[in-house]
Amino acid sequence: MPTTHKTRMLIVGSGPAGLTAAIYGARAGMEPIVVQGLQPGGQLTITTDVENYPGFRDVIQGPWLMQEMQAQAEHVGTRMLWDTITAIEMDGSPFRAIGDSGDIYEGDCLVIATGAQARWLGVPGEAELGGKGVSACATCDGFFYRGKKVVVIGGGNTAVEEALYVTNHASEVVLIHRRDSLRAERILQDRLFAHPKVSILWNKAVDQFVGGDKGLTGVALRDTVTGEISEVPTDGAFVAIGHAPATELFKGKLDLDEAGYIIVEPGTPKTQIAGVFACGDVMDHTYRQAVTAAGTGCMAALDAERFLATRDFAATRETVAG
Ligand code: FAD
Ligand code: NAP
Repeated sequence: MPTTHKTRMLIVGSGPAGLTAAIYGARAGMEPIVVQGLQPGGQLTITTDVENYPGFRDVIQGPWLMQEMQAQAEHVGTRMLWDTITAIEMDGSPFRAIGDSGDIYEGDCLVIATGAQARWLGVPGEAELGGKGVSACATCDGFFYRGKKVVVIGGGNTAVEEALYVTNHASEVVLIHRRDSLRAERILQDRLFAHPKVSILWNKAVDQFVGGDKGLTGVALRDTVTGEISEVPTDGAFVAIGHAPATELFKGKLDLDEAGYIIVEPGTPKTQIAGVFACGDVMDHTYRQAVTAAGTGCMAALDAERFLATRDFAATRETVAG
């Protein structure tokens, strides 16, 4: 029998944005519910070292940070629920979300913190060899390539971190990038260039993942400048070309930009619907950091509190007047 869960503040997503909104919302007495989704704790649960989240002199681990954030949210009164939202009604408050479990979640206000998901290349062999040599998470699967050769595709922070991480396991790591310069932070680039196990193939696009029943054997490449075709033998390939915002649920209900990110009022987490707020990577294609996600999560909770206070005050005035 489906259950209806009611709350002043419904939060969809349990990454740094959702959990920070929950911490502030709970402390403001909004008794938030967080619907966690398929990745409790969000993207940082698939990484290892985090050295840029303020407050920690020593390197910390992403999964540990997210466990602590969740514990803090629960400690101040957040209810964490294990479900994934599959449909949402946003005509007005209360907002209704339907979970994969069949349960219904009703919130007087709604905070969307659904983050982003790994992007794939969409070339032949990628789906077929997924889990048989092709992966989007080196920190999850790098262990399987002890003493083997792997390639990492991409040129951003994720690709460089993934490449450096797999050097802990693999004997040889080749970074494949479609241009002749990386967009990763300079400090990461310096570490990559200095690593004896790493080499880089510049100006190369992956046309196909090659392999069969036994798994991946190589990647077919095309030179993006000369058009020359080549093939690099490899045991594993990690696709690290960025993430797409998780906004499928909100198409046609909220304004999205051309890349699919939720459009908010500049400088705020307010969407075009009063009482609906968006925070973290789902509305931010520029910064996409744990600390900025947490920051906008805080802003969403503060604005949610103001929204409810204004609405409650207006309702009380009407009751008194009427
Ligand atoms: P996410 O962390 O993406 O969380 C989204 C949440 O929404 C998840 O809990 C998911 O389960 C939930 N969700 C999605 N859809 C639904 C649904 N339909 N129903 C219910 N829940 C749903 N940033 C740094 O600052 N430092 C780093 O060192 C760093 N390292 C990184 C390493 C990697 C490999 C990656 C991929 C990212 C890294 N980042 C780092 C970026 C950082 O992880 C993100 O900016 C941050 O996690 C965004 O937080 P978020 O809360 O917006 O979303
Ligand atoms: P990103 O910064 O968007 O970089 C994506 C990379 O993949 C780019 O180099 C891009 O190439 C390449 N790419 C995209 N589509 C491609 C395609 N179809 N074929 C081949 N290559 C393709 O994504 P990200 O590295 O995942 O980082 C996302 C965010 O998380 C960033 O804000 C990043 O700073 C943050 N992050 C931070 C840390 C950290 O602080 N330590 C770690 C990881 C991630 P072009 O360069 O040619 O566009």
